[in-house]
Amino acid sequence: MDDRQFRNAMGKFATGVTVVATEVAGNVHGMTANAFMSVSLNPKLVVISIAEKAQMLEKIKQSKSFSVNILAADQQELSMIFAGQSKNQQEIVFDRLEGIPVLPRATAQIVCEVSAEHDEGDHTLFIGKVTNLKVEDSEPLIYFSGKYRLLAEE
Ligand code: FAD
Repeated sequence: MDDRQFRNAMGKFATGVTVVATEVAGNVHGMTANAFMSVSLNPKLVVISIAEKAQMLEKIKQSKSFSVNILAADQQELSMIFAGQSKNQQEIVFDRLEGIPVLPRATAQIVCEVSAEHDEGDHTLFIGKVTNLKVEDSEPLIYFSGKYRLLAEE
């Protein structure tokens, strides 16, 4: 099986899109990620998967905390900015929740303390203990087969 075939198959799993954010020495760093899921209700745990080549990896190892910001349908540009895919680089203003940077107007802002990390292949899984969250009543941005999508109207 080649890499393209594996990527194509994984891309058939429709997901939302998140921006993971953290702060080290006063500098906020964000990164687009769709490898996110809920792990446990009691205690409340989530997991994110960060590539070994991503700048974000060392930053979360240092800060030991992060936010997961589930993007709203009209936040595709933010996804592209934090994936390094936009020429439109600009300063992004973050809000704070429990002192952790969060993206304004995200459908959900989830803030976590790292409770465990596991190196697996070329990624590291961070288990986050959820310390607070905020939810907005907005539609999510969707990612499927390498393209951004919107939920269809009912
Ligand atoms: P960089 O590439 O240096 O930063 C990413 C971009 O964010 C840069 O353009 C930077 O200028 C900008 N940026 C960072 N902080 C700020 C700030 N404070 N203000 C303004 N701009 C800022 N990779 C994974 O490891 N796991 C995943 O689950 C994952 N899912 C993805 C899902 C999608 C839909 C996409 C498009 C990409 C995904 N990626 C994932 C790839 C990942 O987003 C990119 O490889 C990303 O560039 C890695 O970021 P980095 O931490 O190496 O930092």
